[in-house]
Amino acid sequence: MKSDIRVCSAWRERHDRPVYSLSSECPDCGGETENSAPAPFDPEDRYGEYRRALRKRQS
Ligand SMILES: [Zn+2]
Repeated sequence: MKSDIRVCSAWRERHDRPVYSLSSECPDCGGETENSAPAPFDPEDRYGEYRRALRKRQS
């Protein structure tokens, strides 16, 4: 599924952190936004969640 969340293309220069928006304009600086890549999926994190779920079930 494609994400419509966009991020200010110049946030590294203009903002302290990524500025996300659903429009093609940054709400903060009025600059252009670009499609943000989906958050990378960390497999280790997934296993951590699996372990936590297991532990929860056993206790
Ligand atoms: Zn901006």
